[in-house]
Amino acid sequence: MVASLTTKTIVGLEIHVQLATRTKLFCGCALEFGATPNSRTCPVCLGLPGSLPVMNRAAFDASVRFALAMNCKIATYTKWDRKSYYYPDLPKNYQISQYDLPLGYEGYCDIDGDEGQSKRIRIRRAHLEEDAGKNLHDVPGCSLVDLNRTGTPLLEIVTEPDIDCAQDAFDFCTGLQKLAVYLGVSEASMQKGQMRFEPNINVEITRGGEVFRTPIAEVKNLNSFRAVRDAIEYESKRQVQDWLADEDYVFGKASNENRGWNADKQMTEYQRSKEAAHDYRYFPDPDLMPVTTTADWVDSVRKELPESPTVRCDRLVSAFGLSQGDADLIVADRGDAELFDAAVDGDKKLAKRMTSLMLGAAKKSANDRELTVSTVLPSATSWQQLVRMVEDGVVNASAGERLLLEAMENTAGEIDFEQMAKDRNLVQVQDVGQMSAWVEQVFTENDGAVQDALSNPKKAKAAPGFLTGKVMQVSGGKADPKVVRQLIAAKIKEMQTE
Ligand SMILES: [Zn+2]
Repeated sequence: MVASLTTKTIVGLEIHVQLATRTKLFCGCALEFGATPNSRTCPVCLGLPGSLPVMNRAAFDASVRFALAMNCKIATYTKWDRKSYYYPDLPKNYQISQYDLPLGYEGYCDIDGDEGQSKRIRIRRAHLEEDAGKNLHDVPGCSLVDLNRTGTPLLEIVTEPDIDCAQDAFDFCTGLQKLAVYLGVSEASMQKGQMRFEPNINVEITRGGEVFRTPIAEVKNLNSFRAVRDAIEYESKRQVQDWLADEDYVFGKASNENRGWNADKQMTEYQRSKEAAHDYRYFPDPDLMPVTTTADWVDSVRKELPESPTVRCDRLVSAFGLSQGDADLIVADRGDAELFDAAVDGDKKLAKRMTSLMLGAAKKSANDRELTVSTVLPSATSWQQLVRMVEDGVVNASAGERLLLEAMENTAGEIDFEQMAKDRNLVQVQDVGQMSAWVEQVFTENDGAVQDALSNPKKAKAAPGFLTGKVMQVSGGKADPKVVRQLIAAKIKEMQTE
């Protein structure tokens, strides 16, 4: 009989995030996606002899913000190291990176588990380094090199092997993307290749009380969340199969390996056995000054961090009773989330109405123009005024929506919605006498529906709604539907007892 197997997937991630600085990490060349090849270069990023790099302070500051948002400790002293790199897309033959003293270390990010509990993924380190250029192979018979990307600042984030399934890796990566965009430290656009992922995967296999571990496979250069998930799923099966075929396929005996993801075949492919760190021959860069930070400065950066998307979502759910889905949609854009908070100003009653206006008509209108709600209508005061007007019955919900859409069509400035409602004759009639007169008129003109309401058991439920609609029509949308419904119900009751 074959002893049964249990397996546990173990994943650590290396993630490169391109920082949204104006210029490169060690020179003044502009960072620009899609520029003419080699038009954004200078002696420093071309690696010409005699040129001297100077650190871009904005890239360092952005990295510290990101590292702090991932709850990392910040190094008081960090330096730059050269890592051997012999490929034509980095002509100086080394990459400037941070080896033994990363700027951030020992952090963590929490992700949501399956049953609402949160899982903590520890961050081992976050360090800053320069990107290489691009080798292009699309011209037959030769390879071309574009050095526009050479020297682009990348934050490399390395997690501890705390991830145990493909979905958690997916959630961690998407969460990190949201965080980067929220902080404004990166556009984190997948289309522009601004985030790249390298999962390190192996499997712990238990058979009859004995534990085996497969060698670690590092899947190189994944550029989508889906590829991360699929590659991890594939590897957790492939490694067990390989171990079943050859029991020497274990960590320590067989070598760790680099693999590539083939999306067409939905499988990883062997590239080469994995080099150890000493192969890179790291040594401190003599051209660059070490960087020091003070506790005061780090504290001041920490104080300026925005509330993280996860914390903000939880707060909207607990403080205002929003659904998780609605909270996610509002928090997805930092500007929208800030507008929401400013307009609602802690008032739970306004929060509900604000949510439906913002995520309904306003969001659709903004999306149609590929904009966000807060860029189209940024004034929190105007939003609050409109939401209050609907809430107080000054205009009904559909008139509120109409005013909002018209305002969003025309201007991004402050709007006087009260004046707008008056100008368009949309202010609800609060005069009960006038509304009773409309109800009388509708009852006279719609005897069929009135009879249904009184004595047709099949239609008695729907008839009052139909009559309310008629009254709204007669009033030109100015009647308060809440009051009209009450008047109609009272009148039907009166007729039934007669
Ligand atoms: Zn340059």
